[in-house]
Formats: sequence, C-alpha cells, structure tokens
Amino acid sequence: MLQDFSVQEIVQITSATVINGGMNGRFSQVSTDSRTIHQPSETLFIALKGAKFDGHQFIQQLVNQGVKGFLVRHGEEVPTGISEDIYLFAVNDTHQALQQLAAFQRALFQKPLIAITGSNGKTIVKEWLGQLLGAHYAVAKSPKSYNSQVGVPLSIFGIKPYHQVAVMEAGISKKGEMSRLQSMLRPDIGIFTTIGTAHEEGFDSQAQKLQEKASLFAESKFLIYRKEHAAIASYLEQVMAHERLIAWSDYPGTDYTLSVKKESNSSKIILLKPDMSMFTFSVPFTDEASLENIRHAIVAGLVLGLQAGQIQQELTHLRPVEMRLTLKAGIRDCLLIDDTYNNDLAGLRLALDFMAAQRQKRRRIVILSDLLQVGNPSLVYEEVGRLLDFYQIDLFIAIGKEIQAVRSSWAGKMLTHTNTEDFLQALPSVEFQNDLILVSGARAFAFETIIARLQQRVHGTVLEINLNALTHNYNFYKTLLKPSTKVMVMVKAFAYGGGAVEIANHLEQLRADYLAVAYSDEGIMLREAGIRLPIMVLNPVQESFGQLLAFNLEPVVYSPQFMRDLGLFCRHQQASIRIHLDLDTGMNRLGFKKEDLPQLIAMIQEFQELTIASVYTHLVGTDEDVHDDFSRMQLILFQAMAEEIAHSTGTQPFRHALNSGGIIRFPDYQFDMVRLGIGLYGVEVNGRYDTSLKSISSLKTTISQIKSIAPDESVGYGRKGILPKGGKIATIAIGYADGYDRRFSNGVGFVLIHGKKAPVVGNVCMDMCMVDVTDIDAQEGDEVIIYGPDISLKALANAIGTIPYELLTNISTRVKRVYYLD
Ligand SMILES: *Cc1c(COP(=O)(O)O)cnc(C)c1O
Repeated sequence: MLQDFSVQEIVQITSATVINGGMNGRFSQVSTDSRTIHQPSETLFIALKGAKFDGHQFIQQLVNQGVKGFLVRHGEEVPTGISEDIYLFAVNDTHQALQQLAAFQRALFQKPLIAITGSNGKTIVKEWLGQLLGAHYAVAKSPKSYNSQVGVPLSIFGIKPYHQVAVMEAGISKKGEMSRLQSMLRPDIGIFTTIGTAHEEGFDSQAQKLQEKASLFAESKFLIYRKEHAAIASYLEQVMAHERLIAWSDYPGTDYTLSVKKESNSSKIILLKPDMSMFTFSVPFTDEASLENIRHAIVAGLVLGLQAGQIQQELTHLRPVEMRLTLKAGIRDCLLIDDTYNNDLAGLRLALDFMAAQRQKRRRIVILSDLLQVGNPSLVYEEVGRLLDFYQIDLFIAIGKEIQAVRSSWAGKMLTHTNTEDFLQALPSVEFQNDLILVSGARAFAFETIIARLQQRVHGTVLEINLNALTHNYNFYKTLLKPSTKVMVMVKAFAYGGGAVEIANHLEQLRADYLAVAYSDEGIMLREAGIRLPIMVLNPVQESFGQLLAFNLEPVVYSPQFMRDLGLFCRHQQASIRIHLDLDTGMNRLGFKKEDLPQLIAMIQEFQELTIASVYTHLVGTDEDVHDDFSRMQLILFQAMAEEIAHSTGTQPFRHALNSGGIIRFPDYQFDMVRLGIGLYGVEVNGRYDTSLKSISSLKTTISQIKSIAPDESVGYGRKGILPKGGKIATIAIGYADGYDRRFSNGVGFVLIHGKKAPVVGNVCMDMCMVDVTDIDAQEGDEVIIYGPDISLKALANAIGTIPYELLTNISTRVKRVYYLD
C-alpha cells in the first residue's frame, strides 16, 4: 500500500461504526482471504460475503492467528468476548467499503495509472505493456487477471510508494459494475482492446456493453483504441472529445499507423508516427491476436514517452504469452508449477498461494530468479524471505546475483546459482523426487528450459484444464442452491476425463462437501494423493471391502445380498462403515425398489455396524421436458421411501436426488445435498444456462505434416478421403486411441486451426487423422484445437449420435493433462 490506514481514516472513508477497540490502531495490510495473511498484527481483514463463502466465518480463527482488525457487515454474527486490542468495524456493505478504501489509496498515487478493458486481450496487453515499461520504470501491475470487483481493489493495494507507473485491467460481467471500477481506478490513460459481438449475459445489447465499458475512461486524459474496431471507434468518437482520443490503424489517417508484414516466424510492424517519422519493429509472432495486442502495448509505451528503440529492445524478448500459472506432471513423481513468465512480488505471492493449495508432496521447492526492476531491492528480497517462511518452503533455489540477498532474511535451506546454465549443469545432482516445485523467473533467465528438463515427456496432445473456469461453474451451481444444501461432486471416470486427482484437490479448496467415484480403485487413488473429503463409491465390489475400510471410502449399498455381505464382513472385522443407500425409483439399474423396503429396514436394524450416511435416488430424464412428470413421480416416490426408512429406523439420514440437470429443473427437491456432474465440467444439458457456464477444457494437438493433394488422389485408409478440387491436408497428432471418435471420419468432425474450421478428411486413424487446410494459412507445428471453448461439445456429440459425457470421458489417459489458472 502507499500509506497505512489509521482507525480514523477507516471510519471516515467507509462510514464504519467501531464496535470494538480504541481509536489508535494502524493497518498496513488489507486482506479478504483468510488463508493468505502474512502480517496478521498489521492486517485489516474485510469479511466479504458471496454465494460460495462468507468471510465472517473465519473471524475467530483469524483472531487466534493474531489478526488485529476486522471490517464486518452490520447484523452479521461475530464471535463474542473479543479482547479490547482488536478492532471491529461494522458497515452496511463490506464490498463497498473495500472499494472505498481502494479508491482512497488510488488517490494517493500521483504517477500515471493505465487501465485496460475490452472483451479480449486485456490480460496480455497488460502483461506486455508491463514488460515494455518494466525495463525503465518500477511498474505496479495487477497480478494475472485480477480485474474484478474484488481483484481491482486488491491490485490497488499492491501499489507501493516506490512504483513509478501502474498498469491495471478491468473486467465486468454485468451492468453497473464499471462505474465502481472507474471510481477506484480513475485511469489517466486507457486502452480499449476489443468488443465482442457475442451476446453476453448481463447486457441487453452491444451498444449498452460498449457504453458501460467505455465509462471506465470517463476521466482519462487519453484513450487508446484501434480504428478498425468500428463499433468502438464510432462510439468513442461520438461521445469523447477528439483531443483525448488516440487511434491507431493498419492504414494511414489515424494518430499512429502500424502496418504489419508477416514473415515465416516473425512479423515486422512499420510505425508511422504523427510527425511522419518511421520505425520498424520486429516481433516474434505472426498470429492476428498477438499482433493486435502488441500494437496496443506499443502505442501505450509511446504515449508514456518510451522511444521506439527502447521498445524494440524489449520486443525481442517477447514470446506469445503463457501468463497462466500451470500445473504439469514432472519427472520422478514431481508436480511442477510453471510460472516462468512472472517476475514481480504480486505474481510470486499468487503462485505461492496456488502452491499452498496443491496436495501434499515430499517437499515444497521454489526456483526463483532475480526480480528485475523492483524499485528497492533490499526491501523486496526481504519480502521474498518472509514469503518463503510463510509458505513453509523446504528448499529455495536462487538463480541470479541479486536474489542471493534473500539469504539475509531467510534461514532455510538454499542453493544458489549465478545463472540458469549453471543450474542446468548442476541439475542431475539435485535429487528431485515426489516434490512440488514452483519455477518462477524473469524472462531473461529463460526458465522455460528448466521446465523442459523437469517435465515428464509425453506426446504432443494435451488436455488443458482451466481451474478458474471450474471454480466459476461450481459457483454458478452454488447460486442455484439454498445455502444449507451440500454439494457432492461426481469425479467418477477420471472426473469426466478431466483428471480426478487435481480436480478433486481443487474441489477440496472450493470446500465441496463430498466426492463420488464409480469404483474403489478410483477412491484409493484419490486417498493416496492426499484427498481428505468424504468419498462415496457408486459401484464397490466385494473384493474391495477391506480397501473400503482401509482407505475410509463410503460404499453405495444397492441390494439386500450386498448389504448382508458387507454387514457380515464388518462384523467379522469388528469395524463399522458409513454407507449410502441407492433407492431405485425408476432407473431400473442398481438400487432397492419400493417392495424391498421391509427387508432393507430389517437389515438396517440387524447390522448396526453399517451407518446410514445417506439415502439417494437418481433421476432418469433431467435433460428433457417430456420426462418432467416422470421425474416428479420419482422424486415423490423417493421422498416416501426415505420417510419410511427414517420412520422405522428412528434415524434421519441425509437425502439427495438431483444431478446437474435436476438442479436446474427441480430446485424444490434439493433435499440435503445435490450431486453435481457434467455441469461442473461446462455442459448444461438443458440448454437453459449455456452462457452461464464456462468450458473448462481444451483438447489440443499439433500439425505433424502438410501435403498438397491432387483431385485424383485419396487420403488415408480405405481411400475414403477425396478433395474433388484438390487442396491441402494437414496430418494431426490425434486418433481414436486418444479418444478422437472414429465416427468423426469423412467430414463429420472438424477441428480449429487459427480459429478456422478444418473438416476431417478420410477415416480417423488410431494415432492421427487428416484435416482439410486448403483455405487455412497453416504451418507444420501449428496448434490444433479438437475441443474447446469455441467448439460446442453438444453439437459435436450430436453429429455422431452420442452425448457430451461420452466425448469427455473417452479422452485417453495417455493424453497429458495440464491445469492452469487464467
Ligand atoms: C454420474 C451421476 C451423477 C451426475 O450426473 P450428471 O448428469 O453428470 O450431473 C449423479 N448421480 C449419480 C448416481 C451418478 O451416477
């Protein structure tokens, strides 16, 4: 922060009532996350309340940890008997108070603040501009995509007195949000990247979205935009004074002309400035999105006074960004957190948080380079030491000359190397084994070479899973539930193909209540990976009874015979176990039917070693209107059966019936818990909330080879692929053994290359297939999207007569899973 908050200031700024404590305290930190408080005695904790969490619940725990200040909502329950030296402030709206405090800090910052908004590219433009400026100034930058109503204030608190310029991004999802971001950020210079045409939830029209987004720049001195985005340009030119607008374009006639000449692996950008002087930049990419984003950053750099030559020096180091924090499988059972792009304290803190949220491994290791352009190095490295301490790092590998200064503030185990090359040579002697390793460094240190050495090798097809999107979907379903309804998440079948362990771990972070798997093996795998949530096993077999006990797994019991076997087993072992009863109300798969109830009840009484943790039923048709009456009949029958069990056994077991489709369709039947499956993974089977969910995964591969095909040639097995006019095909590295269904053969399926559709030509082979790239400017090695946010899984599944569930779960385990936070 730029300045501590005194108690008086907090009262003045937020109109808070002081309900505990005196008037003399000061706070140098503000936090909204109970898990990441580093200096408790100087921290003001703001208790936010949302659909998924309630900060008020953590107050007692934080008091015990030594936190000294709390800002709470009037009327919320707070622990009693809090000692006098702890400050308790109450306001009507804690979100608003957070924003008011941020606006106050913002007003203290007298240097330029640049804010970026738009439908796409804002995080990349922010990162790149941060890089261009970082070579010359100490830059405060919002970490990753911290652009929301909570992310923006936290980013503002990250501005320190030594910062010379701030680069922040702002994102909104509904009407009215931007004015709040504007009142905090009040940018001096703005960048408006793009505006999507797609209907976005929360906005009535594109015009309204435009107006709302542009309101961020109400007080900006300058606003940068691209003339080719006609909707943005015409709107801004109507509503804003001409001298505040800075337009750039491919063509002459605007303030900056930046035309592009693409070469094979790089592009030239020719700048024609307002004074008619020229400069040619060279950038290491050719795709349209990167070329647009970098030109936004170049113009902003020029407006802020950088020379074109200075900008070029930084451009040579750029690479298409992986700004994301990614989790990758490493050699020797290690788990890698790849943060090789990051280079500031705010980012490091975020990466360490992410690390803390991963499952337990043998050691926590951090590999970190010098932080470049940090302002006051000794303060910054002292802070790094504090962070290593806070996050209980077992081994710190410092690469670079300056970073060694951490030694003076941290006493843990530390290895030092002066440069990356040095470390790579020494690497064989570092015994990595089952460790969690964070690799984070400035781009000049080329830490991607370290990642390449530590990463497990597999073929080029990957399934990328966006954990933030998963969080988003989880929270979306939470908003449809009553606060008291618990959530069991189905992570059977490798979490619908997404990879059970990492997803289960993430769900544990999200405080899901229960997990469910199909087989005992799947449950054992989760336990061995350190997952502690209760786990229900849908289809346990008799051979696994011992393991159920050993690994604390809770079986579903679905027949009298099975119940007797399990009961006798437990009796013999002198053990007890929690079980779940499957009541069959119409699926006619597994489960007790109505007529089995007397026998079931007798056995519940007979086998006291079986504790009934819950009773449930499964609906057969929650994705179609035609089955609504049947579903209601199932629900009513279930209710009656559960009641009968409760009545005759004198217990009140937990009840649950709804799957993802059911949560949407039958909100009145949530009972005690729901069982969330496909919805979490981004598919809304009813089609009612398609725009509310995010696609969580992208299946990607690469082009192995490109060939020209004459009209009389054929492609692939059985000579099925023909291009009647001739053309170009690309062979891509995915086949039916990877889970790319053979029914996609011969034009039924398509993939995306550079955003364009390339239909499948001929039959899909086992490990590869061929696609038509006649009209696509594609190169060998280019990325190919098989499934992802821009491809509707439902439509694809339809095309081959199946359902999205099958496409997701068919993705082979040989396809590497990579997890990231965007
Ligand atoms: C798979 C499964 C679910 C989840 O269904 P979705 O349609 O994926 O939400 C719920 N309950 C049971 C018993 C299941 O087997």
